[in-house]
Order: sequence, then structure tokens, then C-alpha cells
Amino acid sequence: MHFTPDFNARVGVISDYHAKGKHTTTFAEMYTTPDGTQIIDTPGIRDFGVVDIPSEELPHYFPEFRKFMKACRFNNCTHIHEPDCAVLSQLNEGNIPQERYYSYRSILNNEDIFK
Ligand SMILES: [Zn+2]
Repeated sequence: MHFTPDFNARVGVISDYHAKGKHTTTFAEMYTTPDGTQIIDTPGIRDFGVVDIPSEELPHYFPEFRKFMKACRFNNCTHIHEPDCAVLSQLNEGNIPQERYYSYRSILNNEDIFK
């Protein structure tokens, strides 16, 4: 049996998916925020201690939230349960990917909601 490098790569992706059971991708994504900050989003982001970010700063690491956050009623909005939260309403409108919101909430609560 002959395994090409490409085949092995695919196996790696599939087995990683099954092992962790929650990853939709194993590839890091890089975002560049308007101020030039580059953010790397990896499926294993929580494994690297990013949870040490103060919770009030966490939303700033989600560029998808940023453009809506200013419209929240409270400027210390955690975008979880506050009334008139622009992030939540944009989430409901489908303008913020649910996946991103779930990972935000998961990091904020420091819990694995996929269990
Ligand atoms: Zn909010």
C-alpha cells in the first residue's frame, strides 16, 4: 500500500477532528484588525493560555464583534446576557458566525461547551 504525503495529511486532519470531537477545522486562521493587530485563531487556542486575557478585553480579540460592540447599550457589555446587546442581535441576524460566538463564550466561561 502506498501513502502519498497528501493522503497522510488528510488522515491527520480527520483523526484530529475525531480525537478532539469539536473542531471544524485544524487550520489556523489569521485576522488583521483595523489597527493592524494580527490575531491568529487556532482550534487549540485555549490550550495556549489565551484564557488569561481579562474578560473585559476578550471581545476585542474577536474582530467580528468589534464593529458591532460600540452599539451595545453598556460599554462594559460582555455580550452574554445584557439587554440591548448589539453583538447578540447581530448574532441573531446571522451577521456574526455562531462558531465564533460559541468560542468567545467558551473562552469567557473557561469551559468546554462542546462536551
Ligand atoms: Zn454586547
